[in-house]
Amino acid sequence: MSKDNTRAYNKKSVADIDVKGKKVLLRCDFNVPVDKETGKIRDEGRIVAALPTINYLLDNGAAVIACSHFGRPKGEFKPEFSLCDVADCLSKHLNRPVKMSKDVIGDDAMTLSQNIKPGEIMLLENTRFHPEEEKNDPEFAKKLASMADIFVSDAFGSVHRAHASTEGVSRFLPAVSGFLLNEELKYIGGAISDPKRPLVAILGGAKVSDKLAVISNLLKIADTVIIGGGMAYTFFKAEGGKIGNSLCEDEQLSSVLKCKAEAKERGVKLLLPVDSVAGAEFSNDVDPVVVDSGAIEDGMMAMDIGPAAIGEFVNEIKDAGTIVWNGPMGVFEFSKFAEGTRCIASAVANSNAISVIGGGDSAAAVRKFGVADKITHISTGGGASLEFMEGKALPGIVCLLDA
Ligand code: AMP
Repeated sequence: MSKDNTRAYNKKSVADIDVKGKKVLLRCDFNVPVDKETGKIRDEGRIVAALPTINYLLDNGAAVIACSHFGRPKGEFKPEFSLCDVADCLSKHLNRPVKMSKDVIGDDAMTLSQNIKPGEIMLLENTRFHPEEEKNDPEFAKKLASMADIFVSDAFGSVHRAHASTEGVSRFLPAVSGFLLNEELKYIGGAISDPKRPLVAILGGAKVSDKLAVISNLLKIADTVIIGGGMAYTFFKAEGGKIGNSLCEDEQLSSVLKCKAEAKERGVKLLLPVDSVAGAEFSNDVDPVVVDSGAIEDGMMAMDIGPAAIGEFVNEIKDAGTIVWNGPMGVFEFSKFAEGTRCIASAVANSNAISVIGGGDSAAAVRKFGVADKITHISTGGGASLEFMEGKALPGIVCLLDA
Protein backbone atom coordinates (compact mmCIF):
# COMPACT_ATOMS: atom_id res chain seq x y z
CA MET A 1 0.00 0.00 0.00
CA SER A 2 1.62 3.26 -1.06
CA LYS A 3 1.73 5.99 1.53
CA ASP A 4 0.52 8.59 -0.97
CA ASN A 5 -2.77 6.81 -1.39
CA THR A 6 -3.46 6.54 2.29
CA ARG A 7 -2.72 10.10 3.15
CA ALA A 8 -3.13 10.95 6.81
CA TYR A 9 -2.31 14.41 7.96
CA ASN A 10 -0.89 14.89 11.40
CA LYS A 11 -1.22 18.63 11.72
CA LYS A 12 -1.07 21.08 14.60
CA SER A 13 -4.46 22.28 15.72
CA VAL A 14 -5.49 25.48 17.42
CA ALA A 15 -5.51 23.59 20.73
CA ASP A 16 -1.75 22.91 20.37
CA ILE A 17 -0.67 26.55 20.35
CA ASP A 18 -0.90 29.57 22.64
CA VAL A 19 -3.40 32.06 21.27
CA LYS A 20 -3.60 34.43 24.23
CA GLY A 21 -3.14 38.04 23.16
CA LYS A 22 -2.67 36.99 19.53
CA LYS A 23 -4.50 38.21 16.44
CA VAL A 24 -5.79 35.22 14.53
CA LEU A 25 -6.69 35.23 10.85
CA LEU A 26 -9.40 32.54 10.76
CA ARG A 27 -10.40 31.13 7.36
CA CYS A 28 -14.00 29.93 7.66
CA ASP A 29 -16.38 28.47 5.14
CA PHE A 30 -19.18 31.03 5.17
CA ASN A 31 -20.22 30.18 1.63
CA VAL A 32 -23.80 29.70 2.85
CA PRO A 33 -26.74 28.82 0.61
CA VAL A 34 -29.08 31.77 0.04
CA ASP A 35 -32.64 32.06 -1.18
CA LYS A 36 -32.54 32.98 -4.88
CA GLU A 37 -35.42 35.43 -4.59
CA THR A 38 -34.86 37.18 -1.25
CA GLY A 39 -31.08 36.73 -0.97
CA LYS A 40 -31.56 35.68 2.68
CA ILE A 41 -29.45 32.90 4.23
CA ARG A 42 -31.30 29.62 3.69
CA ASP A 43 -29.22 27.38 5.96
CA GLU A 44 -27.03 28.65 8.81
CA GLY A 45 -25.28 25.26 9.19
CA ARG A 46 -21.87 26.47 8.03
CA ILE A 47 -21.99 29.46 10.38
CA VAL A 48 -23.01 27.27 13.32
CA ALA A 49 -20.24 24.80 12.44
CA ALA A 50 -17.63 27.55 12.79
CA LEU A 51 -18.69 28.48 16.35
CA PRO A 52 -16.56 25.99 18.35
CA THR A 53 -13.27 27.31 16.93
CA ILE A 54 -14.38 30.95 17.17
CA ASN A 55 -15.60 30.57 20.76
CA TYR A 56 -12.41 28.74 21.73
CA LEU A 57 -10.27 31.53 20.29
CA LEU A 58 -12.29 34.32 21.90
CA ASP A 59 -12.49 32.55 25.28
CA ASN A 60 -8.73 32.00 25.23
CA GLY A 61 -7.89 35.65 24.73
CA ALA A 62 -7.36 35.85 20.98
CA ALA A 63 -8.69 38.56 18.68
CA VAL A 64 -10.35 36.97 15.67
CA ILE A 65 -10.15 38.32 12.12
CA ALA A 66 -12.47 35.95 10.26
CA CYS A 67 -12.54 35.66 6.48
CA SER A 68 -14.27 33.58 3.82
CA HIS A 69 -15.26 33.51 0.21
CA PHE A 70 -18.95 33.69 -0.71
CA GLY A 71 -20.36 32.78 -4.11
CA ARG A 72 -18.65 33.77 -7.35
CA PRO A 73 -18.34 37.57 -7.54
CA LYS A 74 -15.59 37.06 -10.15
CA GLY A 75 -13.00 39.33 -8.53
CA GLU A 76 -15.21 42.42 -8.18
CA PHE A 77 -16.96 44.19 -5.32
CA LYS A 78 -20.62 43.23 -5.76
CA PRO A 79 -23.05 44.06 -2.93
CA GLU A 80 -25.10 40.88 -3.48
CA PHE A 81 -22.01 38.88 -2.53
CA SER A 82 -21.30 40.86 0.66
CA LEU A 83 -20.78 38.92 3.89
CA CYS A 84 -22.82 41.52 5.88
CA ASP A 85 -25.72 39.11 6.51
CA VAL A 86 -23.24 36.45 7.63
CA ALA A 87 -21.75 38.94 10.14
CA ASP A 88 -25.25 39.59 11.55
CA CYS A 89 -26.01 35.89 11.78
CA LEU A 90 -22.64 35.16 13.40
CA SER A 91 -23.20 37.95 15.88
CA LYS A 92 -26.59 36.47 16.82
CA HIS A 93 -25.04 33.04 17.47
CA LEU A 94 -22.03 34.39 19.36
CA ASN A 95 -24.12 36.83 21.33
CA ARG A 96 -21.53 39.53 20.80
CA PRO A 97 -20.85 42.12 18.12
CA VAL A 98 -19.04 41.12 14.93
CA LYS A 99 -17.36 44.14 13.34
CA MET A 100 -17.81 43.97 9.58
CA SER A 101 -15.09 45.56 7.49
CA LYS A 102 -16.08 47.33 4.29
CA ASP A 103 -13.20 45.79 2.37
CA VAL A 104 -10.79 42.85 2.37
CA ILE A 105 -7.29 44.33 2.50
CA GLY A 106 -8.20 48.03 2.20
CA ASP A 107 -8.02 50.89 4.71
CA ASP A 108 -11.11 49.80 6.63
CA ALA A 109 -9.84 46.23 7.13
CA MET A 110 -6.42 47.50 8.15
CA THR A 111 -7.78 50.03 10.67
CA LEU A 112 -10.26 47.61 12.21
CA SER A 113 -7.67 44.84 12.48
CA GLN A 114 -5.13 47.21 14.06
CA ASN A 115 -7.62 48.22 16.73
CA ILE A 116 -9.19 44.84 17.48
CA LYS A 117 -8.74 43.65 21.10
CA PRO A 118 -8.52 40.17 22.64
CA GLY A 119 -11.98 38.62 22.90
CA GLU A 120 -13.27 40.63 19.92
CA ILE A 121 -14.16 39.40 16.44
CA MET A 122 -14.32 41.08 13.06
CA LEU A 123 -15.16 39.75 9.61
CA LEU A 124 -13.42 40.78 6.40
CA GLU A 125 -15.45 41.23 3.23
CA ASN A 126 -15.65 38.39 0.69
CA THR A 127 -12.10 37.36 -0.23
CA ARG A 128 -13.25 36.71 -3.81
CA PHE A 129 -13.91 40.44 -4.28
CA HIS A 130 -10.24 40.38 -5.34
CA PRO A 131 -9.12 38.33 -8.37
CA GLU A 132 -5.83 37.82 -6.51
CA GLU A 133 -7.60 35.46 -4.09
CA GLU A 134 -8.11 32.63 -6.59
CA LYS A 135 -4.77 33.37 -8.25
CA ASN A 136 -3.07 32.88 -4.89
CA ASP A 137 -1.26 36.16 -5.43
CA PRO A 138 1.62 36.46 -2.92
CA GLU A 139 1.21 40.23 -2.40
CA PHE A 140 -2.50 39.82 -1.64
CA ALA A 141 -1.76 36.92 0.72
CA LYS A 142 0.95 38.97 2.43
CA LYS A 143 -1.49 41.84 3.03
CA LEU A 144 -4.10 39.49 4.47
CA ALA A 145 -1.46 37.90 6.68
CA SER A 146 -0.14 41.29 7.82
CA MET A 147 -3.27 41.79 9.93
CA ALA A 148 -2.58 38.80 12.18
CA ASP A 149 0.00 36.78 14.15
CA ILE A 150 -1.42 33.30 13.45
CA PHE A 151 -3.44 31.66 10.66
CA VAL A 152 -6.13 29.14 11.60
CA SER A 153 -7.76 27.21 8.77
CA ASP A 154 -11.23 25.85 9.43
CA ALA A 155 -12.69 25.85 5.91
CA PHE A 156 -12.43 22.21 4.89
CA GLY A 157 -14.64 22.78 1.84
CA SER A 158 -11.89 24.98 0.35
CA VAL A 159 -8.68 23.13 1.28
CA HIS A 160 -8.41 21.45 -2.13
CA ARG A 161 -7.90 24.91 -3.61
CA ALA A 162 -4.60 26.75 -3.35
CA HIS A 163 -6.04 30.23 -2.90
CA ALA A 164 -4.52 33.18 -1.04
CA SER A 165 -6.79 32.81 2.00
CA THR A 166 -6.54 29.00 2.12
CA GLU A 167 -2.86 28.44 1.34
CA GLY A 168 -1.03 31.65 0.43
CA VAL A 169 -1.23 33.21 3.89
CA SER A 170 0.56 30.22 5.42
CA ARG A 171 3.78 31.42 3.80
CA PHE A 172 3.70 34.46 6.05
CA LEU A 173 2.14 33.15 9.29
CA PRO A 174 2.34 30.05 11.48
CA ALA A 175 -0.65 28.00 10.27
CA VAL A 176 -2.74 25.46 12.20
CA SER A 177 -6.13 23.75 11.80
CA GLY A 178 -9.36 24.69 13.55
CA PHE A 179 -11.59 22.11 15.24
CA LEU A 180 -13.83 21.58 12.23
CA LEU A 181 -10.92 20.87 9.90
CA ASN A 182 -9.34 18.70 12.56
CA GLU A 183 -12.41 16.43 12.63
CA GLU A 184 -12.16 15.96 8.85
CA LEU A 185 -8.49 15.05 9.15
CA LYS A 186 -9.23 12.62 11.95
CA TYR A 187 -12.14 10.81 10.30
CA ILE A 188 -11.44 10.93 6.57
CA GLY A 189 -7.69 10.67 7.14
CA GLY A 190 -8.24 7.83 9.63
CA ALA A 191 -10.59 5.93 7.31
CA ILE A 192 -8.14 5.90 4.43
CA SER A 193 -4.86 5.56 6.30
CA ASP A 194 -5.62 3.28 9.22
CA PRO A 195 -9.16 1.90 8.88
CA LYS A 196 -10.73 -0.58 11.24
CA ARG A 197 -11.30 -3.49 8.85
CA PRO A 198 -13.08 -4.51 6.84
CA LEU A 199 -13.19 -1.16 5.07
CA VAL A 200 -16.29 -0.96 2.88
CA ALA A 201 -16.39 1.90 0.37
CA ILE A 202 -19.75 2.78 -1.17
CA LEU A 203 -19.72 4.94 -4.28
CA GLY A 204 -22.67 6.19 -6.23
CA GLY A 205 -24.00 9.21 -8.06
CA ALA A 206 -24.50 10.10 -11.67
CA LYS A 207 -21.11 10.45 -13.28
CA VAL A 208 -18.52 7.71 -13.20
CA SER A 209 -15.91 10.09 -14.63
CA ASP A 210 -16.16 12.20 -11.45
CA LYS A 211 -15.51 9.18 -9.29
CA LEU A 212 -12.90 7.16 -11.22
CA ALA A 213 -9.97 8.62 -9.29
CA VAL A 214 -11.63 7.87 -5.97
CA ILE A 215 -12.61 4.35 -7.06
CA SER A 216 -9.07 3.72 -8.20
CA ASN A 217 -7.59 4.92 -4.89
CA LEU A 218 -10.12 3.05 -2.77
CA LEU A 219 -9.37 -0.16 -4.67
CA LYS A 220 -5.87 0.12 -3.20
CA ILE A 221 -7.17 0.55 0.35
CA ALA A 222 -10.63 -0.99 0.81
CA ASP A 223 -11.65 -4.60 1.32
CA THR A 224 -14.95 -4.10 -0.51
CA VAL A 225 -16.01 -1.44 -3.02
CA ILE A 226 -19.75 -1.15 -3.65
CA ILE A 227 -20.86 0.71 -6.76
CA GLY A 228 -24.40 1.98 -7.17
CA GLY A 229 -26.19 4.93 -8.74
CA GLY A 230 -26.18 5.93 -12.39
CA MET A 231 -22.48 5.26 -12.72
CA ALA A 232 -22.96 1.50 -12.27
CA TYR A 233 -24.45 1.14 -15.77
CA THR A 234 -21.22 2.13 -17.52
CA PHE A 235 -19.78 -1.00 -15.86
CA PHE A 236 -22.66 -3.17 -17.13
CA LYS A 237 -22.34 -1.83 -20.67
CA ALA A 238 -18.57 -2.33 -20.62
CA GLU A 239 -19.16 -6.00 -19.83
CA GLY A 240 -21.49 -6.35 -22.80
CA GLY A 241 -24.75 -5.94 -20.85
CA LYS A 242 -27.91 -4.21 -22.12
CA ILE A 243 -28.66 -1.03 -20.18
CA GLY A 244 -31.54 0.55 -22.16
CA ASN A 245 -31.61 4.32 -21.63
CA SER A 246 -29.70 4.20 -18.34
CA LEU A 247 -26.88 6.66 -17.74
CA CYS A 248 -23.66 5.68 -19.47
CA GLU A 249 -20.37 7.36 -20.29
CA ASP A 250 -19.14 5.54 -23.38
CA GLU A 251 -15.73 7.19 -23.22
CA GLN A 252 -15.15 5.54 -19.84
CA LEU A 253 -15.87 1.95 -20.90
CA SER A 254 -12.21 0.96 -20.93
CA SER A 255 -11.50 2.77 -17.64
CA VAL A 256 -14.20 0.89 -15.78
CA LEU A 257 -12.92 -2.42 -17.17
CA LYS A 258 -9.50 -1.46 -15.80
CA CYS A 259 -11.12 -0.88 -12.38
CA LYS A 260 -12.65 -4.35 -12.54
CA ALA A 261 -9.32 -5.91 -13.46
CA GLU A 262 -7.55 -4.01 -10.71
CA ALA A 263 -10.08 -5.16 -8.12
CA LYS A 264 -9.53 -8.76 -9.22
CA GLU A 265 -5.78 -8.41 -9.11
CA ARG A 266 -5.84 -6.90 -5.63
CA GLY A 267 -8.43 -9.32 -4.26
CA VAL A 268 -10.88 -6.50 -3.53
CA LYS A 269 -14.57 -7.40 -3.64
CA LEU A 270 -16.15 -5.07 -6.23
CA LEU A 271 -19.93 -5.24 -6.02
CA LEU A 272 -22.34 -3.90 -8.63
CA PRO A 273 -26.14 -3.91 -8.24
CA VAL A 274 -27.39 -7.25 -9.64
CA ASP A 275 -30.83 -5.74 -10.13
CA SER A 276 -32.25 -2.25 -10.59
CA VAL A 277 -35.51 -0.35 -10.50
CA ALA A 278 -36.21 1.19 -13.88
CA GLY A 279 -38.81 3.49 -15.42
CA ALA A 280 -39.84 4.54 -18.93
CA GLU A 281 -38.52 8.08 -18.47
CA PHE A 282 -36.56 10.26 -16.02
CA SER A 283 -39.57 11.10 -13.88
CA ASN A 284 -41.34 10.07 -10.70
CA ASP A 285 -44.58 9.65 -12.71
CA VAL A 286 -43.69 6.26 -14.15
CA ASP A 287 -44.32 2.68 -13.09
CA PRO A 288 -41.18 1.39 -11.35
CA VAL A 289 -40.12 -2.04 -12.64
CA VAL A 290 -37.46 -4.34 -11.17
CA VAL A 291 -35.04 -5.52 -13.85
CA ASP A 292 -31.72 -7.39 -14.11
CA SER A 293 -29.06 -4.68 -14.32
CA GLY A 294 -27.32 -6.14 -17.38
CA ALA A 295 -30.55 -6.89 -19.25
CA ILE A 296 -32.47 -3.63 -19.35
CA GLU A 297 -34.86 -3.23 -22.28
CA ASP A 298 -34.58 -0.39 -24.77
CA GLY A 299 -36.62 2.57 -23.60
CA MET A 300 -36.16 1.78 -19.89
CA MET A 301 -33.88 3.74 -17.58
CA ALA A 302 -32.45 2.36 -14.33
CA MET A 303 -33.00 4.90 -11.55
CA ASP A 304 -32.36 2.88 -8.39
CA ILE A 305 -30.71 -0.31 -7.22
CA GLY A 306 -33.11 -3.25 -6.89
CA PRO A 307 -34.14 -5.39 -3.88
CA ALA A 308 -31.55 -8.14 -4.45
CA ALA A 309 -28.77 -5.55 -4.72
CA ILE A 310 -30.01 -3.85 -1.54
CA GLY A 311 -29.88 -7.21 0.28
CA GLU A 312 -26.35 -7.93 -0.91
CA PHE A 313 -25.05 -4.43 -0.14
CA VAL A 314 -26.69 -4.32 3.31
CA ASN A 315 -25.14 -7.68 4.15
CA GLU A 316 -21.71 -6.32 3.32
CA ILE A 317 -22.27 -3.08 5.28
CA LYS A 318 -23.44 -4.91 8.39
CA ASP A 319 -20.01 -6.50 9.00
CA ALA A 320 -17.90 -3.44 8.14
CA GLY A 321 -15.36 -1.97 10.55
CA THR A 322 -15.19 1.29 8.60
CA ILE A 323 -17.52 2.65 5.92
CA VAL A 324 -16.88 5.51 3.55
CA TRP A 325 -19.80 6.60 1.41
CA ASN A 326 -19.94 9.09 -1.44
CA GLY A 327 -22.87 9.36 -3.84
CA PRO A 328 -26.50 8.15 -3.78
CA MET A 329 -27.61 4.72 -5.01
CA GLY A 330 -30.29 6.14 -7.28
CA VAL A 331 -32.42 9.17 -8.02
CA PHE A 332 -33.32 9.53 -4.33
CA GLU A 333 -35.00 12.88 -5.06
CA PHE A 334 -37.85 10.83 -6.69
CA SER A 335 -39.89 8.95 -4.05
CA LYS A 336 -40.33 5.89 -6.30
CA PHE A 337 -36.57 5.55 -6.73
CA ALA A 338 -35.40 6.48 -3.23
CA GLU A 339 -35.61 3.06 -1.61
CA GLY A 340 -32.05 1.93 -2.45
CA THR A 341 -30.46 5.07 -1.03
CA ARG A 342 -32.79 4.98 2.01
CA CYS A 343 -31.91 1.34 2.80
CA ILE A 344 -28.18 1.95 2.41
CA ALA A 345 -28.41 5.09 4.59
CA SER A 346 -30.19 3.13 7.27
CA ALA A 347 -27.77 0.17 7.05
CA VAL A 348 -24.78 2.52 7.37
CA ALA A 349 -26.43 4.30 10.31
CA ASN A 350 -27.28 1.06 12.10
CA SER A 351 -23.91 -0.61 11.62
CA ASN A 352 -21.31 -0.58 14.38
CA ALA A 353 -18.72 0.66 11.91
CA ILE A 354 -16.99 4.03 11.91
CA SER A 355 -19.01 5.70 9.18
CA VAL A 356 -17.74 8.61 7.12
CA ILE A 357 -19.93 10.34 4.57
CA GLY A 358 -18.53 12.62 1.89
CA GLY A 359 -20.43 15.89 1.53
CA GLY A 360 -22.92 16.67 -1.19
CA ASP A 361 -25.73 14.30 -2.10
CA SER A 362 -24.97 11.43 0.29
CA ALA A 363 -24.89 13.91 3.17
CA ALA A 364 -28.23 15.29 1.95
CA ALA A 365 -29.57 11.71 1.77
CA VAL A 366 -28.72 10.76 5.37
CA ARG A 367 -30.33 14.00 6.52
CA LYS A 368 -33.41 13.43 4.38
CA PHE A 369 -33.84 9.92 5.76
CA GLY A 370 -33.39 11.11 9.36
CA VAL A 371 -30.28 9.08 10.22
CA ALA A 372 -27.61 11.80 10.20
CA ASP A 373 -27.15 11.65 13.96
CA LYS A 374 -26.11 7.99 13.74
CA ILE A 375 -23.25 8.68 11.34
CA THR A 376 -19.78 9.04 12.87
CA HIS A 377 -18.74 11.86 10.56
CA ILE A 378 -20.47 13.78 7.79
CA SER A 379 -17.95 15.79 5.84
CA THR A 380 -18.54 19.51 5.33
CA GLY A 381 -16.80 19.51 1.94
CA GLY A 382 -18.01 17.68 -1.17
CA GLY A 383 -15.16 18.33 -3.60
CA ALA A 384 -12.55 18.44 -0.83
CA SER A 385 -13.65 15.13 0.69
CA LEU A 386 -13.60 13.46 -2.73
CA GLU A 387 -10.06 14.70 -3.41
CA PHE A 388 -9.03 13.65 0.11
CA MET A 389 -10.31 10.13 -0.59
CA GLU A 390 -8.50 10.16 -3.93
CA GLY A 391 -5.29 10.38 -1.89
CA LYS A 392 -4.41 13.78 -3.32
CA ALA A 393 -2.23 16.26 -1.45
CA LEU A 394 -4.62 19.05 -0.48
CA PRO A 395 -2.80 22.41 -0.54
CA GLY A 396 -4.83 23.96 2.28
CA ILE A 397 -3.83 21.10 4.58
CA VAL A 398 -0.28 20.46 3.40
CA CYS A 399 0.56 24.08 4.26
CA LEU A 400 -0.31 23.68 7.97
CA LEU A 401 2.36 23.04 10.60
CA ASP A 402 3.03 19.39 11.37
CA ALA A 403 2.06 18.22 14.83
P1 AMP B 1 -23.16 13.00 -8.21
O1 AMP B 1 -23.19 14.47 -8.14
O2 AMP B 1 -22.37 12.45 -9.35
O3 AMP B 1 -22.80 12.36 -6.87
O4 AMP B 1 -24.64 12.54 -8.53
C1 AMP B 1 -25.73 12.76 -7.68
C2 AMP B 1 -26.96 12.67 -8.50
O5 AMP B 1 -26.97 11.43 -9.16
C3 AMP B 1 -28.25 12.74 -7.71
O6 AMP B 1 -28.91 13.93 -8.02
C4 AMP B 1 -29.03 11.53 -8.21
O7 AMP B 1 -30.37 11.82 -8.53
C5 AMP B 1 -28.31 11.13 -9.46
N1 AMP B 1 -28.44 9.70 -9.77
C6 AMP B 1 -28.15 8.67 -8.98
N2 AMP B 1 -28.45 7.51 -9.59
C7 AMP B 1 -28.95 7.81 -10.81
C8 AMP B 1 -29.43 7.05 -11.90
N3 AMP B 1 -29.48 5.71 -11.85
N4 AMP B 1 -29.85 7.71 -12.97
C9 AMP B 1 -29.82 9.05 -13.04
N5 AMP B 1 -29.37 9.83 -12.04
C10 AMP B 1 -28.93 9.22 -10.94
